[in-house]
Amino acid sequence: MVKRNENLARLPAGYLFPEINRRRRSLLLRNPHAKIVSLGVGDTSRPLTPHVVEAMRKAVLGLGTPEGYSGYGEEAGMLDLRKRIAQRLYRGTVDAEEVFLSDGAKCDCGRWQILFGPRTRIAVQDPAYPVYVDGSVIAGDGGAFEGGRFADIVYMQCKPENGFFPTLDELPPVDLIYFCSPNNPTGAAATREQLEELVAFARARGAIILFDSAYSDFIRDDSLPRSIFEIEDARRSAIEIGSFSKTAGFTGVRLGWSVVPKELAFDDGRPVIDDWKRITTTIFNGASNIAQYGGIAALDDEGVEETRGTVAYYMENARIIKDALDALGIENYGGSNAPYLWARFPGRKSWDVFEEILERAHVVVTPGAGFGPAGEEFIRFSAFGPREDVLEAVERLRRTVALVRLP
Ligand code: PLP
Repeated sequence: MVKRNENLARLPAGYLFPEINRRRRSLLLRNPHAKIVSLGVGDTSRPLTPHVVEAMRKAVLGLGTPEGYSGYGEEAGMLDLRKRIAQRLYRGTVDAEEVFLSDGAKCDCGRWQILFGPRTRIAVQDPAYPVYVDGSVIAGDGGAFEGGRFADIVYMQCKPENGFFPTLDELPPVDLIYFCSPNNPTGAAATREQLEELVAFARARGAIILFDSAYSDFIRDDSLPRSIFEIEDARRSAIEIGSFSKTAGFTGVRLGWSVVPKELAFDDGRPVIDDWKRITTTIFNGASNIAQYGGIAALDDEGVEETRGTVAYYMENARIIKDALDALGIENYGGSNAPYLWARFPGRKSWDVFEEILERAHVVVTPGAGFGPAGEEFIRFSAFGPREDVLEAVERLRRTVALVRLP
């Protein structure tokens, strides 16, 4: 008999979204006529924009001809796209050769976890996008799961009380720091000063920051950094992962990237970029060429203009949700530079609040505890739904939330 991978056995059962779906199905079994609307998942709902569709249509038609057909491409991606990302998104702070296209930020997270290997001392914001912890555990990090957390993972508490930024000086030694800004789930966007502090900390401790900028296009406040590479010295202490998923609606198309600066090195002086090339050429064969043509179109003038419209639509949803929460007197954060709102229900268990909102309002939200221990008491509201669902959901919340807040 084959032995089960013991790292998988260490993961607690019930990943967040399957559990949410289970409870949703249970409501429908009891009440088949319930019209459930969702402010839960981070999946997008706006269609692809015409300019991007046209570019991918042309690419597909070309692939159907002997002259236009191409097979495997450059593993790191098309040079034209790498250049556009470097110039348009990073304004020249990174080089095209440091940009590696992928099938998405989540998939790149998994490959980074393989690259760093087992027994890497990791630190995560608490709460955080679950893949950082779960993927690291699968790769052999984290130690035992005890009392709702992994013993060898450093959970950096990010709460309203500390401005959603951890007290770095108190941290034990770490190798890899996951940092996501604008943040999923809290909607907090780090300031320049905060990121400067983070980079200085990583430099002083010899740690590497894995900076997740999947939501950078949602930043409205121009004083906030959109990339870790806007911070001096970050090139010697950070990797950045980005994505076309939320901005261009590529959650199904699949396209993301990692930026690996040439200066970034391990303790023996070897460049991290060399190992990244080794990993990606060994267990990845490059992003879809059709998706890459779509990405190129999304980054020209017309594409950028169109995707701005998509982002504006979601941010208007965020404003509607925020106004409703404010009107109901519910303490809430985020929503100004991120498509997520983080609402607090003091003294309540987040799964209980989730359950009550689902049962009474037939609205799906996301319980904060699913993102880490510091998510208890909080609920995440996502702005990625269609406008009519958002309006319907906030109307139902208005009618029922007084009940939900009862202790
Ligand atoms: N990073 C964060 C913080 C996310 O919230 C998500 C998706 O929800 C991703 C990455 C996944 O991105 P992709 O679709 O490119 O895999």
